[in-house]
Amino acid sequence: MNIFSDPTFDMACEQFRVIADYLNLDTNIRERLLMPKRAVAVTLPVRRDDGSIVAYNGYRVQHHLALGPTKGGTRFSLSVTLGEVAALAIWMSWKCALTGLPYGGAKGGITVDPRTLSVRELEAVSRRYMQEMIPFVGVHTGYSVPEIVTGKPISIGGSAGRREATGRGVVYLIERALDVLRMKSSGCTAVIQGFGNVGSVTALGLAYKSGMKVIGISDAAGAFYNANGIDVGAADRHVAQHGSLAGFNGAESIDPADLLTLQCDVLVPAAVEGVITGANAGKLRCRILAEAANGPTTPEADVILFQRWNEIFVIPDILCNSGGVIVSYFEWVQGLQSFFWNETEIMDKLFRILEQAFSAVIKRARDAKIPHRMSAMAIGVERVLAAKKSRGLFP
Ligand code: NAD
Repeated sequence: MNIFSDPTFDMACEQFRVIADYLNLDTNIRERLLMPKRAVAVTLPVRRDDGSIVAYNGYRVQHHLALGPTKGGTRFSLSVTLGEVAALAIWMSWKCALTGLPYGGAKGGITVDPRTLSVRELEAVSRRYMQEMIPFVGVHTGYSVPEIVTGKPISIGGSAGRREATGRGVVYLIERALDVLRMKSSGCTAVIQGFGNVGSVTALGLAYKSGMKVIGISDAAGAFYNANGIDVGAADRHVAQHGSLAGFNGAESIDPADLLTLQCDVLVPAAVEGVITGANAGKLRCRILAEAANGPTTPEADVILFQRWNEIFVIPDILCNSGGVIVSYFEWVQGLQSFFWNETEIMDKLFRILEQAFSAVIKRARDAKIPHRMSAMAIGVERVLAAKKSRGLFP
């Protein structure tokens, strides 16, 4: 039992153990590579609109600082625990190292369902969280320091294309996977779980840019299927108007558990962790599994997917959803230099980085005859390891 004990943290540890064994890492380096460098827990007392005061829990975990400052978003969800935040920080480290970004991984989170808060309450929780984290983040200069936070509105130094970056990256990588498999995207069928930022942008891109037929979509409110193809533009407008897919009538409502096992060319889990399990991995009927969510596949499912490597081409999460952190990196760079690029320049730079990472993962997997996830993680872990070794330990 340690302070990070949590099923998601266990999953990150198990994935690391597999890679560490594969890379034959010395036992002396394993804990140093895996365990987070710092973790902070804070209490956030906030006055609600009805006058009551509620104390929320907030966390921030920095995994390592060997390659640069740490990077990682802040998650608002009831499922946030210190261990989950630590797991996401670790995955962010491998992702940044894989894509060559000069960052260590970090993550933050607040245990709250943001849908239960008014806009004023949400602002109060966010401001209180940031206030508590200032000594930890280390910036309090009295004037705006735009590079310290990414994902900002364009009006205060945000980057063009940041909101769409993750989904567009997912679409780019799916197209590259189709190239490798010598398949044409037009006419392919796609199923997407989750219709938030990443899922909706991916669905729109696959339908309108790649010419695919999106036959299944879902969100927390329900799952929908239409063999003739769903009008994802209409689904997107429905969510903008009603807040969720509930009541969407452009497709037949199906059991959400059946969505992932629909026959399709491309399956995109873009919702939550741990949805592809030992129980359903053997039943997947897709040609490409594009892991847009963080940690959608459990280690038990991974064993099954490895046995099915010839049937299912996996684009592992740390590669598949890295578009978001790459454009956050661009936002940081633009803030540091106070010189901003347009959206075309951003997308061009994004796709170049994704291409390099994709090619490296595929090549190593082919050469060493290992699964794509193992290849991607091995590249990430080795880069962090090399930096740690160069820096050495304090005597
Ligand atoms: P979001 O909150 O905008 O959307 C999440 C979507 O998933 C919503 O439509 C929600 O209704 C749906 N959902 C929740 N539980 C579900 C369930 N059990 N079944 C089906 N749908 C469910 O979040 P997002 O930013 O789109 O992130 C989605 C995933 O992608 C997360 O795992 C996140 O960590 C990962 N990710 C996001 C980014 C980014 O830039 N936003 C970057 C990297 C990774």
